[in-house]
Amino acid sequence: MEVKARNKSSSLGVICAICSEFYTPYDVIFYSASCGHNFHKVCLTRWLNISLTCPQCRSSCHRDNIRRIYLNFSERREGKGEEPPKVPIQWVPLDYKATKLPKGVVKCGFDNKGNSTYVARVYLNNDLLPASYVAKNKTALCSWDCQAYEFFSEVEVLILTECDLKWVPGTKGSYSSDALQTGYSEDGEVTYTGRGLYDGTVRLGKVHPSHEVMYIPHRGLEVNVPDYEVLVAIPR
Ligand SMILES: [Zn+2]
Ligand SMILES: [Zn+2]
Repeated sequence: MEVKARNKSSSLGVICAICSEFYTPYDVIFYSASCGHNFHKVCLTRWLNISLTCPQCRSSCHRDNIRRIYLNFSERREGKGEEPPKVPIQWVPLDYKATKLPKGVVKCGFDNKGNSTYVARVYLNNDLLPASYVAKNKTALCSWDCQAYEFFSEVEVLILTECDLKWVPGTKGSYSSDALQTGYSEDGEVTYTGRGLYDGTVRLGKVHPSHEVMYIPHRGLEVNVPDYEVLVAIPR
């Protein structure tokens, strides 16, 4: 497969051969244990729904034979006065020791106790789930398969830099064509970050198109919100 890098803003000249984007320090990268080729987890999971071969060398590749790989990035030492490239949309692993949230986090809505929440996502089983981060408790809330879940680690928060953010109305699973792709379900369906009113409070949730609904976690359960707004982030 011939690959051409599209995105020039990276600190490492290594790309995912499925989407042709450079890896950034915030990407989740997986490799096929049979051949060693590596890809974004998002890209590889989706690919394995349609083919059981490595997209790069066509050797056999199965979901139970892929592993996470951790790369060590370092700051590039370049000529003076050269600005580091800006990445407009990033999902950044939360640093629990930090006293402040990073610049550019997206604050929206509240949990059911009235604490402010931030746009986040978490990995659960084979899904990547839109979530809301409650800074006060340092927990992320999400819902999956009728239940609510709380995460105390491995949370990624959305960081926007020089991006225009809008919330576009949706209903019964609909979403704007430029909606931010936040997560995916086990079968590779893309899910989106939404916000909607529940019990008189704005809540962040997961827009699941094929289920024709937005889900929010509420008192241990996954609750449906039929009308919502979907997050759209457009780099300037
Ligand atoms: Zn990729
Ligand atoms: Zn391969």
